[in-house]
Amino acid sequence: MQNENKQLVILGAAESGVGAALLGKQQGWDVFVSDGGTIKEQYRQTLQDAGIEYEEGKHDVQRILGAACLVKSPGISEKTEIMKKVRAANILVCSEIELGYRYKGSSKIIAITGSNGKSTTTKLTFHLLKEAGYDVAMVGNIGVSFAKQIAEQPHEWYVIEISSFQLDDIHQFKPDIAVLLNITPDHLDRYDYNFEKYVASKFRITENQDSNDHLVLNKDDKAIQNYLHNHTTNARTIYFTMDEHEELTEGAFVKKEQLHILYGDEQLDVSIHDLAIKGKHNQYNSMAAGISARVAGIRKIKIRESFETFEGLDHRLEFAGTVKGVDFINDSKATNVNSVWFALESMNKPVILILGGQDKGNDYTEIAALVEEKVKAIVCLGVDNTPIHKAFEGLVPVMIDTMSAKEAVTTAFECSERGDVVLLSPGCASFDLFKNYEDRGNQFKEAVKEL
Ligand code: ADP
Repeated sequence: MQNENKQLVILGAAESGVGAALLGKQQGWDVFVSDGGTIKEQYRQTLQDAGIEYEEGKHDVQRILGAACLVKSPGISEKTEIMKKVRAANILVCSEIELGYRYKGSSKIIAITGSNGKSTTTKLTFHLLKEAGYDVAMVGNIGVSFAKQIAEQPHEWYVIEISSFQLDDIHQFKPDIAVLLNITPDHLDRYDYNFEKYVASKFRITENQDSNDHLVLNKDDKAIQNYLHNHTTNARTIYFTMDEHEELTEGAFVKKEQLHILYGDEQLDVSIHDLAIKGKHNQYNSMAAGISARVAGIRKIKIRESFETFEGLDHRLEFAGTVKGVDFINDSKATNVNSVWFALESMNKPVILILGGQDKGNDYTEIAALVEEKVKAIVCLGVDNTPIHKAFEGLVPVMIDTMSAKEAVTTAFECSERGDVVLLSPGCASFDLFKNYEDRGNQFKEAVKEL
């Protein structure tokens, strides 16, 4: 990026945009931040304190098109007018992780992506490194942006949670360890409803890797396997699987309720009952994190201990209390059908399922069999519940529409009896009735307390 023109324009002033602005300024760029909407007070303050120029509610097109490099925040679609102009002007567009990468020095990166499980696996991997005494930061979608962390408090290791949107504008970004957890349909609106484009975007995590780098992959994932039939990677590939028939000599697998990780000179064996986070999906996440930790050089004893002490994240199969023998579980972060599948799969009591919200084009057939087997009532929680009724009418004896978390909880409670579980696992975005998934989960937990 050495160029006479030192204009760095950042589109979007939220966590990643402001992080990129801080790093850009520190590295000697002339930074200008442009946000077409309203900037949150905390970010406005940060920009002002750092003496960084910004605008909001508009885009100064001429100034933006004068940029040597433009950092696009992941939330901004290519279909916006401003991005069309930027592309037409052939300006170098980077994502914030690309900018961070260029200034990361000799530090090492574990980059985690996938359709589901990113945050959990990122936090678990961070926990494994931290407990082993590594100088490590957890960054990306899960908290502080990568760029901001580098600007303000650099570390030797970074565990980065990465969405496909961040991968869309990388050029040199090259993680030492890349993890691809799974690929199931999500966010297709941003990929012209083309699943292949979304898959290709996820695989960009490995495009600059070489034979010294590692790519940790889910062997059971069809989309991943299909992609690898026609594409190669330069990285050393390590698999994890739940398929009892797989005989891996390197990688991770689960057999007879034992999770095994084979890498280098050590074999780690741990009972799935000793993992602090439960459910099949979390066995996948634990395998991915465990392999990464082994590759990073952590001994098996440390990993086993840390598996046991890990505290999962809120709103992911979070236990929210028991009332008159009925358990309540908050899985508000389940915003697609695949995560509902894993939630249902891990339930071993009759379920009253709270489902619904803003539908991103869901195909519910994937969960139909599990719903039929385990769900005695569906409480719909969304403005438009038509797709849910269409999918499950006739399959589930009781279906009731509700319009608030409180109403959903009281209705679900009325449908339940001792020994049941009420599961909020909506499979949809929350924006029709709530601020975000955290708001939905918090209102759910509040309503449970009030029962
Ligand atoms: P992400 O950051 O990718 O959204 P989270 O860890 O926040 O992932 O989990 C999101 C939802 O997906 C939760 O409902 C969680 O229970 C579920 N989930 C977690 N890991 C997996 C996985 N490996 N496969 C499928 N679903 C998962």
